[in-house]
Amino acid sequence: MGIAVFQGQRESADELLKRSDMAMYEAKAAGRDALRFFDPQMQAQMAERVALEADMRAGLDSGQFELFYQPKMVRGQITGAEALLRWRHPVKGYVSPAEFIPLAEQCGLILRLGQWVLRTACERLAHWQEHPVLGQLTVAVNVSPRQFYEAGFVPQVLEALAGAGADARRLRLELTEGLLLQDVEDTIAKMVQLRGYGVGFSLDDFGTGYSSLAYLKRFPIDILKVDRSFVLECDAGHEAMAITRAIVSLAHSLNLHVVAEGVEKQSQLAVLNALGCQEFQGYLFARPLPVGEVMAFLHRGAQS
Ligand code: C2E
Ligand code: CA
Ligand code: CA
Repeated sequence: MGIAVFQGQRESADELLKRSDMAMYEAKAAGRDALRFFDPQMQAQMAERVALEADMRAGLDSGQFELFYQPKMVRGQITGAEALLRWRHPVKGYVSPAEFIPLAEQCGLILRLGQWVLRTACERLAHWQEHPVLGQLTVAVNVSPRQFYEAGFVPQVLEALAGAGADARRLRLELTEGLLLQDVEDTIAKMVQLRGYGVGFSLDDFGTGYSSLAYLKRFPIDILKVDRSFVLECDAGHEAMAITRAIVSLAHSLNLHVVAEGVEKQSQLAVLNALGCQEFQGYLFARPLPVGEVMAFLHRGAQS
């Protein structure tokens, strides 16, 4: 429920309705059974959001989005890369995905944006296929809940692969825990279908959401990604390490491959290695790189 308070007749009925609508929108965004009062700041935020949304649409049409690739490493060798979206806004400069993905989710633009990401990543895979080393890499793509739940998601992935001529076995989709639990049967059905073509699945940000351990074994997941927040602390003493150790051993007992993300320090890498993490991603090895620099990274790696 959205509420706008008024005194006398300073605002028109139209304006009041608009305000209560805005408050209602906020209440809805906060989940079920909520009510919100209108405040002027809300209006400013709304205007900003509307402008950002329009910019995003225009940006998508005029090629302002780009994929960067962050290497994933096994024993000093690059084995894959995660595709991370970047928006080069003509005025604001670089805008972080953390800022625009949630809005894209809300306004539905994530469907087009997500499709663009899938296509671009598959084209990259196909392009790399010709190269002796790059051709061995997997590419991981982040998938938003709204995108995943769209009826046409499976055909969309298959079309992106076929359109580019990319090998499905080199594509990984990264899903979050929250997504898995929204509609369990539908999610499993979609995953099984895609898996039939060779597409792999990673569970992203593991340990940060409402992890339902009971469900975990029901999903056809291949990889568990230990969230950066655990990696950050894993070298800070016994207790901090205990959680990371528990996550890794849980993953192993479910036969999942473990990737640690956000590895920044050698001391973290040492702990994670000792705990049995198999693959690493983080600034210690490389930041997300523009596509042109991935090759340079490969050559650097070969020399060192
Ligand atoms: P994520 O999937 O957890 O991606 C990892 C984030 O951690 C990336 O931030 C990456 O740049 C950052 N990172 C990697 N290594 C390190 C490290 O060693 N230290 C620190 N401090 N950070 C590290 P980024 O690129 O800003 O992306 C943020 C989030 O936006 C992603 O989190 C993902 O949830 C979302 N996102 C990015 N690209 C896409 C996309 O194409 N589609 C969707 N749906 N979401 C995306
Ligand atoms: Ca991810
Ligand atoms: Ca993550």
